[in-house]
Amino acid sequence: MNTFENFNLKEELAVKGRKVYGFIPLAQRPNGTWVNLPVMMAIGAEDGPTIVVDACAHGDEYEGCEGIIEAFRRADPAVMKGNLVCVPAVHAEAFAEMKRYSTLDFVPIDLNRTYPGQEKGYLTQSVADYYFNNIVKHADGLITIHGGGNYLYLEPVTLYQSYGDEISARSRAMAEAFGLDALWRNQVCEPQNGILDELAYTAGIPAITPEIGGQTTRATNREENVSRIADGVFNVLRLWKILDGEVKRFDSQYHVDVQYIYAKHGGIHKPQKKGGQRVKKGDTLSIITNLFGEEVDRVLSPIDGRVIGYWAYTVSQPRSWVYMVGRELEE
Ligand SMILES: [Zn+2]
Repeated sequence: MNTFENFNLKEELAVKGRKVYGFIPLAQRPNGTWVNLPVMMAIGAEDGPTIVVDACAHGDEYEGCEGIIEAFRRADPAVMKGNLVCVPAVHAEAFAEMKRYSTLDFVPIDLNRTYPGQEKGYLTQSVADYYFNNIVKHADGLITIHGGGNYLYLEPVTLYQSYGDEISARSRAMAEAFGLDALWRNQVCEPQNGILDELAYTAGIPAITPEIGGQTTRATNREENVSRIADGVFNVLRLWKILDGEVKRFDSQYHVDVQYIYAKHGGIHKPQKKGGQRVKKGDTLSIITNLFGEEVDRVLSPIDGRVIGYWAYTVSQPRSWVYMVGRELEE
């Protein structure tokens, strides 16, 4: 393992046909240990595009982290025309803390709401700035992996950009190649919200956000989800012709436009619909009771659609979202 004191991705990628990995030290903690950015590079023997893949922008979303480690393990630079740059935990602090956020910031900051970051901001803002400017900007395509983390159930779903241009078409092709069933069409780009795939789009980089796994599935589907991610990364490498071979197609994919559905009151939240299930407008999604078992809220679906995810924890908070329903779209 290396420590990259003065990391320069362009210089690293210029030395062909090798695998190299290690920590980029970013800042020192009071106890003298370092906040690091882990990076793994499979640098093809021949020139070609660079795909960047990351996970754990939210610290508790571990499937992407393990899937990336597996993809890097499988990668063979000798047969690659281009590069795979892997960041298994963008927010390595939140990863270690087993939380969505890191507590090192004075107040919690969501890494995936703070791009392009601030070099002289709080720790999480500086991680965003470093990662975006020193790694993401060198990418021809970006795969930024999320998941259900500690509290959510999610159907495996890949978000892609859809603004009717060439970058969007590339983003959609990457989403299809990644291989998850549900494809979440994002038609609103609001870079001021600080979300990485939208910032990548504004920088001219096609990007997808696969969402897969979470604590609710780890006892039963952990290995399966990890290998689906590694398979997805490899199929995207074939799409970009970094690897030879036919791009695998998936017949069961469907496109959705996802809405978050909020409850007014918190309490004991009882999900009434399962992931992937079709719902009608007006169907009950969740019943929320108080500590005496009395109903305090009932959350109805505002649309016809399919359940893409829901808050899977027993307790839910007031004014927080409890369901994600996807309106099915024509191809
Ligand atoms: Zn996330």
